[in-house]
Amino acid sequence: MPTPLSPPLPAGGISQVPDAHGRFGRFGGRYVPETLSAALDQLQAAYDEARADPAFQAELDQLLAAFVGRPTPLLFAKRLTEYAGGAQIWFKREDLSHTGAHKINNTLGQGLLAMRMGKKRIIAETGAGQHGVATATACARFGLDCVVYMGSEDVRRQEPNVRSMRMMGAEVRPVESGSRTLRDAINEAMRDWMGSVETTHYIIGSVVGPHPFPRIVRDFQSVIGKETLLFCKKELGRDPDCVVACVGGGSNAAGMFYPLVEHKGIRLVGVEAGGRSPKPGDHAASLSYGNAGILHGSLSYVLQDPDGQTADVHSVSAGLDYPGVGPEHAWWHDTKRVEYTSVTDAEALDAFDLVARREGILPALETSHALAWAVKEAARRPKEEVIVVCMSGRGDKDAAEIARLRSIEKGGAHA
Ligand SMILES: *Cc1c(COP(=O)(O)O)cnc(C)c1O
Repeated sequence: MPTPLSPPLPAGGISQVPDAHGRFGRFGGRYVPETLSAALDQLQAAYDEARADPAFQAELDQLLAAFVGRPTPLLFAKRLTEYAGGAQIWFKREDLSHTGAHKINNTLGQGLLAMRMGKKRIIAETGAGQHGVATATACARFGLDCVVYMGSEDVRRQEPNVRSMRMMGAEVRPVESGSRTLRDAINEAMRDWMGSVETTHYIIGSVVGPHPFPRIVRDFQSVIGKETLLFCKKELGRDPDCVVACVGGGSNAAGMFYPLVEHKGIRLVGVEAGGRSPKPGDHAASLSYGNAGILHGSLSYVLQDPDGQTADVHSVSAGLDYPGVGPEHAWWHDTKRVEYTSVTDAEALDAFDLVARREGILPALETSHALAWAVKEAARRPKEEVIVVCMSGRGDKDAAEIARLRSIEKGGAHA
């Protein structure tokens, strides 16, 4: 059953959320059919138990070190900083993680939780395919069965990731409903889960969905922010002045921000996909242009048409192409702890080129949104200041699409 609306705000600091009902202020909660409530309660109990069990953390830490390659370094972007001509730009290198993005931090944690619950079958949704690959990877490592739901449009667009998932033994099920993209894949995964909760765990890929998912995914991704604080202390002798991350569902940003929210001196900035224009259907900036609504089991900012239907969204980067956002971001937005802004497709593509040429790194198109903002902002800030960009993933997956877009711009083949 849905939890009651608008319980009082959580006591304590801004980080003391969610409450027992999974509420971040008025956001979050659990709007799901009864069938799923028991599974979500079981997940919550398993997670509470695991958190209190040092053996669980030790096993996860061991995997994060030897399998993922953590801790990931903090790199001074020297030539990008020279280009901007102001504040220092540093990269937190999640792109160096096994499978090329931050997603693996979450899939390993949830994979271990599934095994604690005695569940041997995993389902997941994926858009660009990064979460699908990270889930298939964790399942291969743990010996779990894996089914990944993916919109048929994305199956076509993200062929290399589909191939990787299948090579690691996952079954990829194309979803033909709706716009045949991420939101339809989540609907289909939820439907599967309703009929299979006894044997199956659903590894959701971002800080979205019904309680306790937003909290669990945030916690597993918080290793990003914790390492950032530690490395800044070690290499700069102090906290950064500003930290920026791109926001799709919001997991890399939440993992980066959460350990920092009580450090009031650090400016936190989330960058959404501004797409082609601010017109409905042309972007995926839920916090910038959305309204409160329920999507995929929780209350948050959602892009909706005037009838309250979930709107169509667009972004050049498939990983930011989602009409909702995690409820904790809605809470940070309304409490003004985090600033949210957006960057257009064109600005993100320019940032991709700039970072490729000046730093020798192909950033993911998602990450390129955060990079575009960082370069603009660094130019306005004094040289003593430090901006850390969450380098959420590598851009090899995007190289073909970028080449295609550039050739259209140049009047070449309209592929
Ligand atoms: C999936 C993905 C994102 C967007 O997801 P969040 O949950 O918002 O982090 C961003 N960057 C990369 C590289 C991704 O793979």
